[in-house]
Amino acid sequence: MSRLDLFIDRMVSQRACLDHAAALVGEMSGPVFELGLGNGRTYHHLCSLLPPRDIYVFERAVASHPDSTPPDDRVLLGDVFDTLPEALVRFGPTARLIHADLGGHNAEKNDLFARRISPVLSPLLAPGGLMVSSDRMYFDDLEEMPLPAGAVPGRCFIYRR
Ligand code: SAM
Repeated sequence: MSRLDLFIDRMVSQRACLDHAAALVGEMSGPVFELGLGNGRTYHHLCSLLPPRDIYVFERAVASHPDSTPPDDRVLLGDVFDTLPEALVRFGPTARLIHADLGGHNAEKNDLFARRISPVLSPLLAPGGLMVSSDRMYFDDLEEMPLPAGAVPGRCFIYRR
């Protein structure tokens, strides 16, 4: 597979999984966490699916497209290893959806990062809440869910508490 093929599969899978997860948590209360703003494409998509004021963005440096930049009071600025524990104190285990897209181009580094971040993320999710991730995560206490139609296995993952 070419890098273009892999990129397209990841984008198509992100969209399919976010659409699916947002529909499943639509009736739940609780915040939505977007981890990794980047250009803001997935944030912009989430805003089309769920109330934008419910969405809190975790990012170490905001550099998104102007159309896809969250309001200041919905940004938790800094390294997620600092801001996620702070969010647990602030929100408790209430997140109805967490989307994590924090990885870069190095698959090995992404996997190491996923192993470190998994136990930090898991306590934030509400019972019945969903986690969508571009990388395989390492949870003892969350169940991996089947992917929706249109998502490519291995390019996106969904977990539920
Ligand atoms: N979802 C975005 C989009 O659709 O445009 C792309 C996100 S990009 C792949 C990853 C982002 O995660 C980068 O903007 C990077 O700054 C952020 N990031 C990576 N590691 C982080 C960390 N430890 N703490 C906070 N942000 C981090």
